[in-house]
Amino acid sequence: MNCREFTSFIADWLDGELPVGQAQVFQAHIAMCPPCEMYLLQYQSTVELARLCQPEDAVPGEVPEALIQAILAARPTGDGSDPTQP
Ligand SMILES: [Zn+2]
Repeated sequence: MNCREFTSFIADWLDGELPVGQAQVFQAHIAMCPPCEMYLLQYQSTVELARLCQPEDAVPGEVPEALIQAILAARPTGDGSDPTQP
């Protein structure tokens, strides 16, 4: 296994979908290739961060256009404390 193959196997390995034989080769590569070990650690922390940012599948949809327009429309007049009007 070379470094290019290694990086292409990382996702499968983390998902536990790598066949046993390839997983052994994968881990052997980690042991002898510090740069790939570092890459794997960074990859794992990136995945972890992504999961923290999106705790569940409930990713909010788009903000309704009507809501945006309502906010923009409400902003200029506000509560009457317009500094240009003494
Ligand atoms: Zn490598």
